[in-house]
Parts: sequence; C-alpha cells; structure tokens
Amino acid sequence: MASKGITILGASGSIGVSTLDVLARHPERFHVYALTAHSNVDKLFEQCQQFQPRYAVMVDPLAASVLEKRLQAVGSDVVVLAGAEALDAVASSPDTDYVMAAIVGAAGLVPTLAAARAGKRVMLANKEALVMSGQLFIDAVCAYGAELLPIDSEHNAVFQCLPSASLREREHRGVEKILLTASGGPFRTWAARDLHDITPEQAVAHPNWSMGQKISVDSATLMNKGLEVIEACWLFGLPAERVEVVVHPQSTIHSMVSYNDGSVLAQLGNPDMRTPIAYALGWPERLASGVAPLDLFATARLDFEQPDRERFPCLQLAYDAHVRGGYATIALNAANEVAVKAFLGREIGFTDIPVLVKAVMLTASTGTPMNLEEILIQDEESRVRSLSWIKNKKIH
Ligand code: NAD
Ligand code: MG
Repeated sequence: MASKGITILGASGSIGVSTLDVLARHPERFHVYALTAHSNVDKLFEQCQQFQPRYAVMVDPLAASVLEKRLQAVGSDVVVLAGAEALDAVASSPDTDYVMAAIVGAAGLVPTLAAARAGKRVMLANKEALVMSGQLFIDAVCAYGAELLPIDSEHNAVFQCLPSASLREREHRGVEKILLTASGGPFRTWAARDLHDITPEQAVAHPNWSMGQKISVDSATLMNKGLEVIEACWLFGLPAERVEVVVHPQSTIHSMVSYNDGSVLAQLGNPDMRTPIAYALGWPERLASGVAPLDLFATARLDFEQPDRERFPCLQLAYDAHVRGGYATIALNAANEVAVKAFLGREIGFTDIPVLVKAVMLTASTGTPMNLEEILIQDEESRVRSLSWIKNKKIH
C-alpha cells in the first residue's frame, strides 16, 4: 500500500500534536507533506525536525522568516511558506491525500473547504468551519468526491455507531436520534449566582479533556455542545430535534445512536483524542493509537443528567440559530469567538458571553448564504457588531 501524504492544518495545537503522535506510530503508512501553524515557531521547528515535511506554513510572515532561518541553520530542506493563502495551497496539493483540519475557529474555513474541493480525505476537528458553511461544505464534499471523517470525539463516536460506514450515504435506516454526550464542563454543579465571577483560569481547566483554550471555554459555557449539535445536523443529515444532548460527567461514553427497535449503540473509551484521530486515519481499518484500553472496573459508574439550559444558555442559542438558518449560525459562531477572546482578555465576564452572542445572533437575517463570499461577509459583520457590543458595555 502506498504511503499516504498528510497535511495538518493547525499542527502546533492540541489536535495537531495528537495527530503527529499517532502518525509517528505508523511510519510505513503515512508521511507528513505539510505542517501549518499561526505563529508558534518553536513548536513547528521541533515538529519539522522530527517529521521532515516538504512544507511548513506559518500564517504570520514574521514567524515564517524566523522559522526559515532556524531551519536553514540546521541544514533542513523543509520549504517554509508564509501567509493564509499558502494554507489553501498545501491543503489542496495533489501531493497530499489526507488533510487534518485542526485550525481553531473561522480561520480554518477557507483551507478546509479547499481540501474538500480538491477531493481529499478531510478529517474534521475544526467544527466552526462546518457550523459556518453547512450545506455549502456538504455539497462540496459530495461534488468533489471528498471523504469527510469527523474527529470531534462525539461525532466520531456516532460515526462508529451508525449502520452505514459512509457519511455520504445520508439514509440511516432505523436511526431515531443521535445522543451527544457532554461532560457538563467545570461548572456543571455551580449555582447560577457563582457563575459571574468565574476567571479564565477556572474556565480553561476542563475536568476530563486537555484541549486548546477556546474549546475549553466553549466547553465551560456549553457553547461547544451547541456547536456540536449544529455540526451533527450537517454531518449526519438530521434535523436538530433528532439530536439530543445528554450530560455524562465521566466522559466515558463519547456519544450514542438510538434506533427505532429500542437499541442504543454507544462508543466508549478513555478521553483521549488519539482514538478518533486513529480511526479517521485508518478508516475503514483500525490503527493502534497509543490509547490505553478502558478499565471498566476503575470507571465503576456512568451517570446521566439533563443539560441545564438556564444556567448555560449557549446550548439553546445554538439550537435557535440552527433553526433560524445559516446567517444566524455564522453570527453565533463569530460572536462567540469574539466573546471568548474578550473573556480570556478579562474584558467581559463569563456570563456576558451568552448575552453578547444572543444580541448579535438576533441581528442576523433569516435564510442561508449561497456562497463563500456571503459567508465571510456575515462573519465579518458579526465580529464588528460583537466588538461594538463590548465597547458599549465598557462605556456604561
Ligand atoms: P489549539 O488552540 O490547541 O490549536 C489551534 C491551532 O490553530 C494552532 O496550530 C494554531 O497555530 C492554529 N491557528 C490559530 N489561529 C489561526 C489562524 N488565524 N490561522 C491559521 N492557523 C491558526 O486548538 P485545538 O484544541 O487543537 O482545537 C482545534 C480545533 O479542533 C478546534 O476547532 C476545536 O474545536 C476542535 N476540537 C478540538 C478538540 C481537542 O481535544 N483539543 C476536540 C474536538 C474538537
Ligand atoms: Mg467534542
């Protein structure tokens, strides 16, 4: 079997590092074609030394020139490219077979779409890209013969529990519901009055998973689960009322599929992203991932609760946005990105996040944009609105 060329968009991040860990276990099956990062020179330098990709892309031009000098100094022949356009080029090159989409946020949309339009195997961690582009993305996957494999642990679990192994076969006979599990985040048991004073440090300390900052805050507000509901609707072709969220604090069950004969299928495992990454890399085969087998006796119990949509309004906002249409989900995502950044920068409080997101989401028109340009315009407008919301709040 010919070795597959891999591009990792967002190699320096949490998912990027876990992907390289799995790839290093299978040098005969895969080679790294390109690694990309925004500006983390140290991490990319170290990864280039170990994996010898053909290209390294740094979005930040200054970081690119520093990386280039450091690689030249050690005699490396990795070619360094700079700028966001270079992401599209490495994601769609004929020399890459699989693309790991692991950039965080809206910045990942254009290169991930480029990979789909080039007919690649797209391993999708960057849920924001699908939340923003919805039907347009799914249509591109179908039109260009790409393979779309979910990396998000919940969606990867659902994929494993569905009858057909192909996402493009949208008829899942007998499927009643998708049950997305949620850990509930670090504040699951906190009283509503205590949520005001939450600090960024408390919010990024997730009880079960080790992840990037943005998704950690999203997990704490339950916006991550809201984005995942929208992601599941697009990936599996189901309406939102057939995607249900179940709080399961142990994060042992990664999600479930409920069938019309009363069966519920679940995928279980330790909370380690290398499992879904290995599944997507190997599919339809399974590959060793380095993840320890689940110790059921140590797990002992599995608990389930209803999500609290009052203390954590972001979950319901995401359902509402999806029903409203594409413009609203783009606004929801953009406002959330701006809000999370402002919360991490101590400009707004934890409980301001849903208030800001709701205000901006409700300004979006109903309906759905027809092309990438319209998507990017709605994204930009929503960011401007979010920033002015923050500015006004500071004045009052
Ligand atoms: P992270 O913050 O650890 O890494 C983000 C990566 O994106 C970095 O490589 C960074 O250089 C790159 N990046 C950031 N801004 C960029 C920009 N403007 N242009 C180009 N590249 C940019 O994030 P993460 O936790 O690895 O998450 C990545 C994606 O995967 C997110 O969409 C997240 O929701 C999703 N995801 C992550 C996990 C997890 O366990 N970490 C689980 C499920 C889904
Ligand atoms: Mg997830």
